[in-house]
Amino acid sequence: MDGSVWTYALPMTTRFRGITVREGMLLSGPAGWGEFCPFTEYDDHEAVAWLAAAREAAEDGWPAPVRERVPVNCTVPAVGPEHAQRIVRASGCSTAKVKVAERGRPAAEDEERVAAVRDALGPAGLVRVDANGGWSADEAVTAIGRLTAAAGGLEYVEQPCAAVEDLARVRRAVDVPIAADESIRRAEDPMRVVRAGAADVVVLKVSPLGGVRRALRIAEECGLPVVVSSAVESSVGLAAGLALAGALPELRHACGLGTVSLLADDVVAAADRLVPVGGTLPVPRRAPEPAHRDAVAAPAERADWWRARHDRIRGLLERA
Ligand SMILES: [Mg+2]
Repeated sequence: MDGSVWTYALPMTTRFRGITVREGMLLSGPAGWGEFCPFTEYDDHEAVAWLAAAREAAEDGWPAPVRERVPVNCTVPAVGPEHAQRIVRASGCSTAKVKVAERGRPAAEDEERVAAVRDALGPAGLVRVDANGGWSADEAVTAIGRLTAAAGGLEYVEQPCAAVEDLARVRRAVDVPIAADESIRRAEDPMRVVRAGAADVVVLKVSPLGGVRRALRIAEECGLPVVVSSAVESSVGLAAGLALAGALPELRHACGLGTVSLLADDVVAAADRLVPVGGTLPVPRRAPEPAHRDAVAAPAERADWWRARHDRIRGLLERA
């Protein structure tokens, strides 16, 4: 590790997790570039895994892939039916993830939205919904029944409820597969979900799980189908997610890696951005060169904040 680090600040196209600018750092090493971008509210202990993932990319590189391209889903936020159809048609994806259970919105809007998405995808497409933990167990059972009918079948329902016990209850009560996303934030969480009988599918992210190799081990241990998802990284960090999706022995579902469109700019040149084509992304052997990093450099006081954070967390990682 030569200690070279850069801090970027990328404006977002859509407000996400309450932020409008995505910040993080790029690290360079003998194997290439890694991205370290734990959300700013995360404490140092939570951020250790993120640094481990960035250093894996920079120092060791990734295991060899078993596939060349990875199918990705498009994401439909809580918009009206015509807008939802435009998003699906423009994406070229045959799997759509539709946000539902938005606070304060009537359930009928969710039904209209998934019906419109089914229309746009046609009968061969797959519709999954993501409630982000927004329902109680009872609400989930009712809503899943209605959405399944409106969509003419659902691939799965992601995180219908917040609590693992509620996921397990809902899973026993409905026929649609259940995916755990927010329930999996740390390396020990997938096994907790499996032991509780709470999910049929797990959503895994490279950065919070500490790297591609660790995520592969977790996938093997938990024995459930995996959907690889991003943490809204730039194209450098996203490449690690694609490396995981590329190296999984089995990949049954489209991945949530078509997320660079949430960022208005990138650390790589426009031609190297990991934008899906025909609903798929290539599996890179190493992260793309962040040739555009100087143009998206963070202001000096933010770069200082990140450098101090990086140094503290590196201390924790090296003592771990
Ligand atoms: Mg989700």
